Amino acid sequence: MNGRVLVIGGGVMGAATAYFLAARHGLRATVFERDPTYSRASSALSASSIRQQFSTEINIRLSQSSLEFYRRIGDELAVDGERPDVGLSERGYLFLATRAGLDVLRANHTVQVACNVSASLLDAKALHGRLPWLATDDLAAGSLGESGEGWFDGYAALMAFRHKAAALGATFESQDVCRIHQSGGRFRGLQVRDGRCFDGDALVIAAGVWSAPLASQFGFTLPVVARKRDVFVFNSPAALPACPLVIDPSGVWFRPEGRGFIAGAPPRGADIDDAPLEAIDHGLFEEVIWPTLARRVPAFEALRATGAWAGYYEYNTFDQNGIVGALPGYENAFIACGFSGHGIQQAPAVGRALAERVALGRYDSLDLAPLSPQRIVERRPLRERNVI
Ligand SMILES: Cc1cc2nc3c(=O)[nH]c(=O)nc-3n(C[C@H](O)[C@H](O)[C@H](O)COP(=O)(O)OP(=O)(O)OC[C@H]3O[C@@H](n4cnc5c(N)ncnc54)[C@H](O)[C@@H]3O)c2cc1C
Repeated sequence: MNGRVLVIGGGVMGAATAYFLAARHGLRATVFERDPTYSRASSALSASSIRQQFSTEINIRLSQSSLEFYRRIGDELAVDGERPDVGLSERGYLFLATRAGLDVLRANHTVQVACNVSASLLDAKALHGRLPWLATDDLAAGSLGESGEGWFDGYAALMAFRHKAAALGATFESQDVCRIHQSGGRFRGLQVRDGRCFDGDALVIAAGVWSAPLASQFGFTLPVVARKRDVFVFNSPAALPACPLVIDPSGVWFRPEGRGFIAGAPPRGADIDDAPLEAIDHGLFEEVIWPTLARRVPAFEALRATGAWAGYYEYNTFDQNGIVGALPGYENAFIACGFSGHGIQQAPAVGRALAERVALGRYDSLDLAPLSPQRIVERRPLRERNVI
């Protein structure tokens, strides 16, 4: 296509899509971002970890492709010789299982091996040999990523995409989009809060947890809600050599961050949906996370909580996977959201593929048909068993 692409949302999805539209297809997008400070954007509040240990091929492929991009982001997104650094640290993920979770761990491993994921299934003895600081007495096994997994600075990645997209001609408008104009099965333009209207030849909705009211203007009921997730920061004198991101069978996770650690857990009850970000559930750390950490890593007995923050998962209640592609019934209106806790790691591959779909009408780098919004209309869930 030729013409102007309008993007609603300047988080990592919107910024990455704008970058690939410009870099690979010569299309200059206009990105509408109502909060350029990103104070509530998931991309700025993320734990920003990347893994290959998923249970579906499409999620594995997305993360593998994105990892390659993050490895060379300094070359890809340099502006005027300034190379962005997202501090990618490839120290792996470790999924732990008791006997009850062993079959699922093995089934996931089979899918992962078929996709060339470098992960080892280790029994309790082997786990203890690799990570002597880990209590393994109640465990049946663990799946340890040997390469291609870790964490990075997500905010730096967002800024790098934004700056490079702008350097290639994308425009970022600090505007709140309040109305979308469509007729005859086509997107026509949009209106922002101050009353101005913008015409466009194509639209991408990448508005994170705020996407549903925008999609509804195309008659599409988007099953994406805001689910608050608290992240706790703690220090410990414990030295944990080769510490990966560890996911306990209970769902509690932790990983190194700077000189300390961060940790989280599934929230308690559904009442935290859409809760204000300021309402940190400190009891979750005291009553659930800390006892689990101290049990799993005896050296954590001496830890000290030093802070916490919260952000929203853009949670897809249908099947907890990204929703990417053309909105049903519209050939020039697209969406990318609903990543349910794995969006920042998939943004490079999603942005590149979605830019192809918009510009060329097809996917070249990676076929994202399994993530199509049409699967929701047809009630065909894409089940991902490894959701954190
Ligand atoms: C605590 C936490 C931990 C996470 N950990 C990980 C992890 O380890 N690994 C991983 O891969 N992912 C993780 N995620 C998920 C990941 O951060 C998100 O999937 C990703 O950042 C989503 O990016 P986005 O651009 O779609 O949304 P956002 O970053 O939320 O951006 C959407 C933007 O749209 C703007 N907007 C909304 N409506 C409008 C409008 N009408 N007009 C103009 N602008 C609008 C908003 O202001 C916002 O800036 C985590 C998320 C959280 C909250």
